Amino acid sequence: MLLIACKAPDQEAKQAGTVMGTVYAQTIYGTEEGIQSARDLQGKLQVLEQVVLSRKTETSELWKVNASFMQGNKKPYQITAQLAEYLQQLIQISADSDGALDITLGAAAQLWNFDEQAGENSGQELIPSAEQIREVMSHTGMDKLQMTKGEDGLWYLQIPEGMQLDLGAAGKGIACDIACDFLMDKEGITSAVVSVGGSILVYGSKPDGSPWMVAVAHPREKNKKLGVLKLQGTHYISTSGDYERYFMAGEKRYHHILDPGTGYPADSGLCSVTIVCDSGLLSDALSTACFVLGQEKGMALAEKYHAMILMVDDQGTLFMNDSMKACFQVTND
Ligand code: ADP
Ligand code: MG
Repeated sequence: MLLIACKAPDQEAKQAGTVMGTVYAQTIYGTEEGIQSARDLQGKLQVLEQVVLSRKTETSELWKVNASFMQGNKKPYQITAQLAEYLQQLIQISADSDGALDITLGAAAQLWNFDEQAGENSGQELIPSAEQIREVMSHTGMDKLQMTKGEDGLWYLQIPEGMQLDLGAAGKGIACDIACDFLMDKEGITSAVVSVGGSILVYGSKPDGSPWMVAVAHPREKNKKLGVLKLQGTHYISTSGDYERYFMAGEKRYHHILDPGTGYPADSGLCSVTIVCDSGLLSDALSTACFVLGQEKGMALAEKYHAMILMVDDQGTLFMNDSMKACFQVTND
């Protein structure tokens, strides 16, 4: 008699919805029990937003920090080790990008309000006045943010009145990091894809061993892609572009990635930047920073962090480093 140890084939389960005000989707492969044990993933990411990261929800730690200094608090504010860890990494990336990544732009982001003005609707009236921009920008700057570890071992944060912190440039990537930790903790999950807006986690190896295929959107032609990333194993992918949250005033495009030097949308000649690396926070923060920096400095920053980078300029020209060239395939559909 022949006995064959037969492993049950992987099941696939899809789920979609909204996380962090953007499109969320997950596909999980594994045993039935494994998939069952991961059904709370989307809820877990919503908790991350509600409890830690949101700039707009009154329940979040970030909101409370901002509110405290807005109300005139002049003393260091105690924060959780979790928020401190994110901030430490972001402060470092900000320093390495010459301030192109700037998490103190909350009031400027609120003034432009791109979340509610996305689309083609033209309107000079949507542009804040130079005076308004000057006012909000007078309170920004990473040098005015102080984070220290007290003698009690706890983390403290201090910002000036009028400054608002905004982790929008990295929140979706952080969600992908949390998703990866969550999946690694579970038994019976072999692989997964989790996408939160422009940030994606591909986790493990696909059941049939084929590479993950991740499409990179064309920044100017809806429903068209620039090409496909072919990736094996676990990676984080983030794209920052000027084509999701924007408005047009005449011929000029106003989009949600701001130049910390001016308070106006970054005008570096790039339309889209995609980063692939082994951390969600890093991929998301770098894609934003490199967008602001432009082609040459953006390339150098990605190399410093050993990240793959793909940039598209306003002429439609693609720029990639060697590690990106090895896995990006241009397509014409
Ligand atoms: P998305 O949120 O669409 O994924 P990004 O990751 O590029 O896009 O982050 C853009 C968001 O980050 C903006 O909506 C704003 O809240 C904030 N932001 C804008 N400009 C900067 C900047 N230079 N540095 C850090 N955060 C920024
Ligand atoms: Mg980003």
